[in-house]
Amino acid sequence: MGVAVSLDIHVDLTAFERNVSELCSRVSPAHVWVALKSHAYGHGMLELADNALKAGAHGLAVLDIDAALALRAHGVTATVFAWLHGNEARFTQAIEQSVDLGVSTFDQLDAIAAAALPIGSTASVHLKIDTGLHRNGFAAADWAKACARAREHELSGAITVKGVWSHLADAGDESDALAISKFTSAVDVALESGLKPTVRHIAASSAGLNNSDARFDIVRFGIAAYGISPFDNTDGAALGLTPVMSVASTAENHDDETVRINAGWFDGVPQNPVGAWVLVDGTRCSVLEVHPRFTVISRPEGFYDGMAVALLGNGGPSAEQWAQWSGTIGDEIVTALPSRIRRVFVR
Ligand SMILES: *Cc1c(COP(=O)(O)O)cnc(C)c1O
Repeated sequence: MGVAVSLDIHVDLTAFERNVSELCSRVSPAHVWVALKSHAYGHGMLELADNALKAGAHGLAVLDIDAALALRAHGVTATVFAWLHGNEARFTQAIEQSVDLGVSTFDQLDAIAAAALPIGSTASVHLKIDTGLHRNGFAAADWAKACARAREHELSGAITVKGVWSHLADAGDESDALAISKFTSAVDVALESGLKPTVRHIAASSAGLNNSDARFDIVRFGIAAYGISPFDNTDGAALGLTPVMSVASTAENHDDETVRINAGWFDGVPQNPVGAWVLVDGTRCSVLEVHPRFTVISRPEGFYDGMAVALLGNGGPSAEQWAQWSGTIGDEIVTALPSRIRRVFVR
């Protein structure tokens, strides 16, 4: 108790910009939106927003309207897309602030139109078709009706359907190809309904990187922008990307055989990694126990209090490596670092 957590979380803005710019050139002529959900996967949403745009992204994607409004308040003027709406969703403010809204249900469609009419604004809407992930989106059986309803709202001046979108399950080439063909059919139905969507988007990092058929007009890149692989058989470096986050600490005496780091699973260190190590002054030291507020590791030769420890990056393990040790994905590793620990932004 009483020991301050000692984690230095560095976010490398140069690496982030390099990744975004690399992703932009790989998927060109499709555009890139950078997904900044979950505080930019633990990196810091507001801090990275400007850099994503500066590096060539055409838009930013966040889960909910509150995050989108925070980006607007921060001064972002580019396209900001939000698609997860609870009952309290602030559609009026979103429309006033020109937030692009993903729409998955008739209730949302009607609520957005109802919010737009009294303020004399037109909401920019992206209709979502469920192409197999079954997380949200209009079911194929409802799609023609959804397009017809959207067209009615367009004619009333309340909305304009700017996009048709979906999310790929990344469940293998065959099921992705099927999802893409369902998506293309849905776009056709939208056009036949009199809608004139100008952007179609379905791919996130994995399909954006390895499936040119999935890119359409926009790829919504999340994890790859942070230099972490969306695939479990390669790391970000192998994909030509640079990890953006690094985490360092110092170690102090614990007992004859071990030393400790003053950060534990409460601070985002994975709780039960199998086979994990960290780098202490060039030596790989096994992670032995992860406690709530501290972590016990093996004691390197010539140990002295205050030796530097690389927990992530800088010669230490990668997020992909931690993910493998923990049976999870790289996203979880970086997103788990609590926002109460300060990020230091470096170049
Ligand atoms: C998270 C998310 C993304 C980004 O996914 P990555 O796999 O991290 O690239 C894109 N679109 C939607 C709808 C998402 O939820």
